[in-house]
This record gives sequence, C-alpha cells and structure tokens, in this order.
Amino acid sequence: MQNINLNDRIPAKGFAVFSKTDTFKPFAFSRHPVGANDILIEILYAGICHSDIHSARSEWKEGIYPMVPGHEIAGRVVAVGAKVTKFKVGDYAGVGCMVNSCGECEACKKSQEQFCQKKQTIFTYDCLDCFHDNEPTYGGYSNNIVVSEKFAINVPKDAPLDKVAPLLCAGITTYAPLKFSNVKAGDKVAVAGFGGLGSMAVKYAIKMGAEVYVFARNELKKQDALDMGVSGFYTSTRGVKERFDLIISTIPTAYDVHSYLNLLKFGGEMAIVGLPPRECSPKIDTMSLVFDAGKKVYGSLIGGIAQTQEMLDFSLKHKIYPEIEVISVEQINEAYEKLTNGKARFRYVIDMKTLQ
Ligand SMILES: [Zn+2]
Ligand SMILES: [Zn+2]
Repeated sequence: MQNINLNDRIPAKGFAVFSKTDTFKPFAFSRHPVGANDILIEILYAGICHSDIHSARSEWKEGIYPMVPGHEIAGRVVAVGAKVTKFKVGDYAGVGCMVNSCGECEACKKSQEQFCQKKQTIFTYDCLDCFHDNEPTYGGYSNNIVVSEKFAINVPKDAPLDKVAPLLCAGITTYAPLKFSNVKAGDKVAVAGFGGLGSMAVKYAIKMGAEVYVFARNELKKQDALDMGVSGFYTSTRGVKERFDLIISTIPTAYDVHSYLNLLKFGGEMAIVGLPPRECSPKIDTMSLVFDAGKKVYGSLIGGIAQTQEMLDFSLKHKIYPEIEVISVEQINEAYEKLTNGKARFRYVIDMKTLQ
C-alpha cells in the first residue's frame, strides 16, 4: 500500500451481501480519506460474530445494503494522519464494534462511547457515519479500514493477531459484565449459551477466580467446557440445584429468562449480552420479577474503548484467547450456515490474505 494520498478516498474491496436473503459476494467500494486523527489499517484477520448474521439478515433492524459486516478486526497500520500520536506505520491495531462517537457527552467522557448520549456512536458497519456525510460504514470482511485513532486498540507486535480479532467483540462483550458485577474469587458464575461469547465468558470468569457453570443447548461442547475448568455443564435449567451470584446470558435465540432468574442467589445478578432477533425477543414478566425481587437483571453492550484496551491487555497477559478456526473469504457463506445451525465449534476468523 505505497503512495497513498491520504486526502483521497481509499479504494477497498471486501465481501458483501446485497440484500437480507443474499449470500456473500465480492464487493469493491471506497473509504473516506485518512483525516488528521485517523489511521489506515490493512486488515489481516476479521472474526465472524453472530451479530454479523443478525445484521446481514436484517433481524434486528432493516440493514443498509450492500453490507460488509465484521467488527472483530486486527491488522497492521499502513498510514497515519498528521495528528496521530497513538500509532505509527507498522504497528498492529485492532478495531471492534465502534469507529467514532461525539467525544463530548457524559458517556463518551467516561469512555462508554457505545452509549453516546448524542446517539452518535458510529458502529463499524451497517451504520450511517454522521462525521462523514452520513455515508454507510463498511466492516472488516475487507482489505482495509480507516478509523479515528481513538477507536483503534493498540496490539503488541508479538500478539497472535488471528486470535486477537475476536477479542474486540466477543472478548469485551463478556469481560465488561464480569467487571460490572465485580466478579471475585469464590463467586459462582453461570454462563448461558456456549458459543464464541460464552466460551470467552467462561475463560475470564475462571481467571478471575470464580466457580463457573455452563448452560448449553446440547452436549456437543461439553468436553471443551470441562477442559476449560468448568464445575458443571447443563443442557437445561430444569432441576438444577446450584444457585449463582451472576448469570451471563449470551443466548442469541428465544429462551425463557425466568428459568435463569430462578437460579440466582438472593441479590444475584443476571447480565444479558446475547441479543436474539426482534420477533423472538425474550420477555420479562413483571409479576415474577416483583415476587423475585432482590435479584437484578441488566443488559450490557460491548464495552468502552478504554475497557477494550484493558480487556486486550488482560487477555494477552493471561493468554486468554478464543478457540478459532481460520477460514478463507470463500468459506464465509458456509460459516454462516454452521453458525445458524449451532454446528460451529469455534469462532470463525477470516484470513484476509485470501481476498484477491
Ligand atoms: Zn460482535
Ligand atoms: Zn457522546
């Protein structure tokens, strides 16, 4: 990527869906010029998150097409704007779910940019970028990305980039509620849903000293969970005697929230991070909630940029990585099938070198 004029639009290519029923096809597009505070990253790896599937199929909201998903991005900095201080050319960088926000509101000042009070959180894809003439954002299933340096995460040179990519969403999404709920040694933590998010939640919770239990939809990954050191593995909430300080639900499909609330200790907390499609969004019955008072339910959305850096440093220090399977761009459609059918054992990470 030599002789880049930072004032010009940056040519890019990737894989996109052109409608909610489409499969992925090659797509050529361009990105906004590299501003004074922006960096240009050559994408080397991009994770496939379950959110990508929901978005590509317009399951949460009507998507913006063509859509290039991908918000688990790791790569190499190939150009920096004049005022950039956090990165230099040749550094490794990661990009997660956001690429910009207002920077001035209460949430942004607390580095909770995902909750920008001006509603100016710019998500990495499927979002209109109000800082760049409302052009749509395109994600990581592509060869490059231009991002404000504030929204890029420093990745050390010796880090395994393919495993780092999924941390930028799956890692922070599960790390944040464990911190929010102050998980400490001896706490009993249950993780509901044992996919890409669930397995990260298990690893972090164990490292924080918790006794960890898994609820999964089948026994396919029971051995993986036991190998990680979980104390129990269930395929149903029925008849479970254990009671938990914290339950993190990563379930991306319809389920009964109350069957989990019943398993909380008095004063226990349930963090919801999984986001099922709108038409089968789980309901919380107020009657049961009132009679179950003394328990707390909260939602958690990724995490702020400062905490994302903290999560990455923590993960690298303790060698906490996702189980991944590296695939080529040609295998994206197949990966979507497997993720939809619950047949994916590991996080799929696209090797962007396969994009020709
Ligand atoms: Zn994600
Ligand atoms: Zn803001």
